[in-house]
Amino acid sequence: MFIFKKSNDLKIYLAKQQQQGFSIGFAPTMGALHQGHLALLKMAKQQCDITVCSIFVNPTQFNDPKDYEKYPVKTDEDIRKLLETGTDILFLPSKEEIYPAGTTNLPIYDFGELETVLEGAFRPGHFQGVEQVMHRLLEIVHPDVLFMGQKDYQQLLIVRKLVDLLHIKVKVESCPTLRETDGLAMSSRNLRLSPEARKKAPAIYQTLLFMKENLAEIPFPELLKKAEDRLTQEGFKVDYIVIADANDLQPLEQPVDRKMICLVAAWLNGVRLIDNMLLR
Ligand code: AMP
Repeated sequence: MFIFKKSNDLKIYLAKQQQQGFSIGFAPTMGALHQGHLALLKMAKQQCDITVCSIFVNPTQFNDPKDYEKYPVKTDEDIRKLLETGTDILFLPSKEEIYPAGTTNLPIYDFGELETVLEGAFRPGHFQGVEQVMHRLLEIVHPDVLFMGQKDYQQLLIVRKLVDLLHIKVKVESCPTLRETDGLAMSSRNLRLSPEARKKAPAIYQTLLFMKENLAEIPFPELLKKAEDRLTQEGFKVDYIVIADANDLQPLEQPVDRKMICLVAAWLNGVRLIDNMLLR
């Protein structure tokens, strides 16, 4: 595996590979890698000639500075895991390599309502930050296929929109959420859960299953109330739990004949967890 720290070096190297006809699969991450991240890279390996992973804890997408400071950094372990998965290239840039002109005058994108609902409402500015880094990374790596997790469903939709908006030639491939054996969606933030909280955390997954199973039986407002109560009783503080149209994340009051998704964000023991489940 080659490790690149300089944007220009990586850009030149990958451009040469593409000229020779090799396809590039890219999975951007913030590190503290788990099987969910590695699944993206395994998928990339199946579909593309060269797999690239980036690890960059992007400051512009953290609306809470404490969350940024506490974000786990495990570079040595990450490198070992990437070697085991057979990843070809790791991009490990500094802040200056990603934002050479600083972070104050970065582009602003128009994602419409998709940016202001759910995560956007609770984390103002988050998606602008995600797209600022994504835009820059896509310019450097110029992948043929971009691999993103369904775990961050709203982010996935927003990245698709960015690609459309800027006419970037890349296929966006979504990867199903990988879970621990008890159902908890894998996340780097799970490392911050206390042992006691870790035991309670799968209640999110159980609640999503409960909603999926009762979708046809219980009216949505009642179902959502029951779901929220379940989580509150387990000690969660719920930011949101909604059933939405899976295409635009507009909340739904009753079943529709389109793909629906349930999305949840809740705090447990000072850690914010998000998860979702496609309902149809
Ligand atoms: P992050 O390091 O949290 O920014 O995540 C990097 C990528 O990994 C994003 O595309 C996430 O959606 C994806 N990802 C994170 N957790 C999981 C998971 N449990 N299963 C599948 N993909 C995931």
